[in-house]
Amino acid sequence: MTNIILLGPPGAGKGTQASYLVETRNMTQLSTGDMLREAQANGSEMGKKVAEVIARGELVTDEIVIGLIREKIAEGAEGGFIFDGFPRTLGQADALAALLAETGLKLDAVVELQVNDEVLVKRIVNRAEEARAAGKPVRADDNEVSVRIRLTEYYKKTSPLIGYYYAKGELKSVDGLQSMEEVQAEIAEVLG
Ligand code: AMP
Repeated sequence: MTNIILLGPPGAGKGTQASYLVETRNMTQLSTGDMLREAQANGSEMGKKVAEVIARGELVTDEIVIGLIREKIAEGAEGGFIFDGFPRTLGQADALAALLAETGLKLDAVVELQVNDEVLVKRIVNRAEEARAAGKPVRADDNEVSVRIRLTEYYKKTSPLIGYYYAKGELKSVDGLQSMEEVQAEIAEVLG
C-alpha cells in the first residue's frame, strides 16, 4: 500500500497522473476539487456555499475540505490513497498528518510536479476550449481571470508546503513539463 500527495499548481497534471496511478496501481484518488464539484452538482447546502468561491478561483475553508478528506480516509483504500489537490494550506497539511496518524497510515511520498506559469495558464485555457468544442461542461474557474487568481492562491498558500515537506524529507520533485508518459515513468521510479 502506498499513500502519496500530488502537489503542484493548477494545470500541472495532478489529475492526469492520479488517473494513471488509479489504473496501474489500484490506488484511490481523493481529489477535493472533484468532491467539491460533486457537492455543487448535487445541489447540497455545502455545494451552494462554495460555488462562488470556487468560480472566483479562491480556496474554500480548511474546515470544509478536511471534513471531506476525513470521511474518505475512514473508508480505507486497499491500494493506498492519492491526495490530489489536498493539502493546499499548512493547516490542511497538519490536519492530514494527524488524520493519517490516527488511522495508522503512513505517507510514502509527496510528489511535486514542477511546471512554469505560462504553460499552466495555456493548458487550462486549452482545457476549457477543448471541453467547449466537444460539447462538454466547462469548469467555471477555467477562464484566464480565475486561473490567475488560482495561481496567486497557490503561491501564497500552497507553495509553502514544498518547504514543509522538503524539511520532513518527504518531497520528491518531478519535471512536469515532460510528456505525460515521461512524467508517469518518473513518478513510477520515485514510488519504486
Ligand atoms: P482543483 O480541481 O483541485 O483545481 O480545485 C478546484 C477548486 O476547488 C480550487 O480552486 C478551490 O476553490 C477548491 N479546492 C479544491 N481543493 C481544495 C483544498 N484542498 N483547499 C481549498 N480549496 C480547494
